[in-house]
Amino acid sequence: MNVKEGFVDCVGRTPLIRLARLSAETGCEILGKAEFMNPGGSVKDRAALYIIRDAERRGTLKAGGTVVEGTAGNTGIGLAHICAARGYRCVIVIPETQSPEKMAILRTLGAEVRPVPAVPYRDPNNYQKIAGRLADELDNAIWANQFDNLVNRVAHYETTGPEIWRDTAGTVDAFVCATGTGGTLAGVSRFLKEQNPRIRIVLADPHGSGLYNYVKTGEIKAEGSSITEGIGSTRITANLEGSPIDDAVRIDDPQCVTMVYRLLREEGLYVGGSTGINVAAAVWLARQMGPGHTIVTLLCDRGDIYRARLFNREWLREKGLEPA
Ligand code: PMP
Repeated sequence: MNVKEGFVDCVGRTPLIRLARLSAETGCEILGKAEFMNPGGSVKDRAALYIIRDAERRGTLKAGGTVVEGTAGNTGIGLAHICAARGYRCVIVIPETQSPEKMAILRTLGAEVRPVPAVPYRDPNNYQKIAGRLADELDNAIWANQFDNLVNRVAHYETTGPEIWRDTAGTVDAFVCATGTGGTLAGVSRFLKEQNPRIRIVLADPHGSGLYNYVKTGEIKAEGSSITEGIGSTRITANLEGSPIDDAVRIDDPQCVTMVYRLLREEGLYVGGSTGINVAAAVWLARQMGPGHTIVTLLCDRGDIYRARLFNREWLREKGLEPA
């Protein structure tokens, strides 16, 4: 018998996919790790699972308890799946700017969704801080706290990083991805550098995020904005702190949209905006490093949760972002 013990048994061990056209164009192996194939549809299932398991082991999350989280959506979706399967109540605080599809999925999964105005982290009413206060107020509740709970990066140190190393048979030359909480980049970069310190780690950043400047100059400085969701930051989270990052690249929305539509038409991959940033950054890196290198990035989530925006021609036209 080959039977999975529920949702949680299906998280991770995602395939690495060669992006054929982009690899041929650059002379590099451009490989995308198919995180959209996680059962909740994104890379964030890994962190959600680790956070819940850790709280159960430590005894802070008890039978019938509540999980509260501030999330751009994907972590919430992962948490909501697991909470439904294990009988926990799930309360999600989400900036009202996030995609309507993500909110609908959360509600379908039985989570209580509390959309709040999108305000910067320094504001006491930032969604992350509201989630923390709410968890304090509710009985028998934990705050998942994906941004500063280090179990998030442990998930990637123990799973995503080793999977990349194993599936490339140790030939990976560089890893590049955008970051939200920083959990993915922190965990993967630490694991890969321990295997081979020459592996290049590059942070991809959208406009509106301060991390590109942070890597380049040491100062967090954000300008502009981006249509992407779930990535970019104006602070160094506990998860991101101390990550061995070699370089950063900024990718703008037109480059992101162009890449998302190329992936759709040329590779048959229906993915979200952060994946567009990641793959555009991988191509930039391939040109920087020259032919013959193996470059890994993440295909973070599925495109269908962005139907009303990224895959809506009208919406793109209004933003001046219609792809060719
Ligand atoms: N892409 C998407 C679509 C996401 O939702 C997230 C997480 N918010 C990320 C990328 C970034 O992952 P991490 O939080 O591990 O930095």
